[in-house]
Amino acid sequence: MTTLVTCPKCEAVYRRREVKAMNRDRDTFECCGVVLESWNSSRFPMFELVTPGTKPYIPEA
Ligand SMILES: [Zn+2]
Repeated sequence: MTTLVTCPKCEAVYRRREVKAMNRDRDTFECCGVVLESWNSSRFPMFELVTPGTKPYIPEA
C-alpha cells in the first residue's frame, strides 16, 4: 500500500511505502529542511519523488 505525502513547504509530492528490513533503521526523511517523517524501527518508509516542489529550494547560508 502506498500513500502520497506532500511537503508543507515546497509542495513536492512523494509516494510513500513501508518496507520491512532485517535490521532496525533509524533515520529521518527530509525535504528542503522539513522533516516529513522520522522512524526507529525495522519497518520504515521509503519515499519516491512524484512531483518536484513548486518553490525552489534555497539552502540557508
Ligand atoms: Zn519540500
